[in-house]
Amino acid sequence: MDLGGELWGEHVYAAHDGVVERVQENGHDQRGGQYVRVAHFGGMVFTQYFHLAAVPRGIRRGARVVAGQVIGLVGDTGIESERRHLHFTLSIRPSKEFSEVYWDPTPFMTRWPLRLPPQGTVAGFAPRP
Ligand SMILES: [Zn+2]
Repeated sequence: MDLGGELWGEHVYAAHDGVVERVQENGHDQRGGQYVRVAHFGGMVFTQYFHLAAVPRGIRRGARVVAGQVIGLVGDTGIESERRHLHFTLSIRPSKEFSEVYWDPTPFMTRWPLRLPPQGTVAGFAPRP
C-alpha cells in the first residue's frame, strides 16, 4: 500500500521489532528504488519499505530494529510517473516450504500503537495500554 509522501524526507518507522534482512541501495533496483526489508518473528513475517530517499547508517543487514525506529526517509527513488510515497508491504512465510504471501496490511495498521509523543519531535511509538 502507498503511504505518506506529503513531505519529502518524512520519517519511515519500523512497523514492528525485527532484524534488517536487506537494504537495497539506490540505483540497483529500478522499480523499488532504495528500500529496506525487515524480518519479524524469526523470519515468518516481513515488512518492506520502498522508494526511500535515504537510509540511516546503522540500518544494515543483520541490524536489530525496534518498532518505531527510523529506518528511512520518504522519497521517490524507483518511481517513474507516480508521486513520491512510501510503498509498504506486509508478507508472511509460515515456513521455508511455503512461498511468501503478501497480505493487506490495512487491518493490522488500525491496531498499531502509533502515538504522538508528549513533547517529541515528529511522531513516536508507545506500547498499547
Ligand atoms: Zn506504491
